[in-house]
Amino acid sequence: MPIEQTLSMIKPDGVKRGLIGEVIGRFEKAGLKIRAMKMLHLSLNQARAFYAVHKERPFFDSLTQFMSSGPIVALILEGDNAIQVNRDLMGATDYRKAAPGTIRADFAKEIEANIVHGSDAVETAQVEIAFFFNALERV
Ligand code: ATP
Ligand code: MG
Repeated sequence: MPIEQTLSMIKPDGVKRGLIGEVIGRFEKAGLKIRAMKMLHLSLNQARAFYAVHKERPFFDSLTQFMSSGPIVALILEGDNAIQVNRDLMGATDYRKAAPGTIRADFAKEIEANIVHGSDAVETAQVEIAFFFNALERV
């Protein structure tokens, strides 16, 4: 398995609901290493830039307002097959379809406010990591 890095975010609902420790604990128990981490509050424009790939989707305005509604935690996770391992921990986008025991199945209450984000491919992981972290901020 390739060693990969992926960008994870604990979304504003996860932070507001006090789930930072719970989510990070799941990453660590799964063997993912934290290579960088920060809390920040995205502006609306920054959220629109991050989710630009979805700009034609009907939920884009609502999603970016939600993502800029409060602080988030961004992390770089590293490990064997880290992109898929993280997505497996997260569960499906729609919490009603997420496998039991996944973060979204256990905690999400809406399709939009679904606790976590994770990169979906090597290329998007590189772009998303560079969005949040410069070289000095990665260990
Ligand atoms: P993310 O990119 O946040 O990790 P994902 O890759 O599982 O999630 P995407 O299809 O990339 O899902 O959608 C990005 C985000 O947009 C979702 O996590 C969710 O917050 C929101 N979203 C997706 N589909 C819908 C929808 N039908 N209605 C409302 N919000 C949605
Ligand atoms: Mg996505």
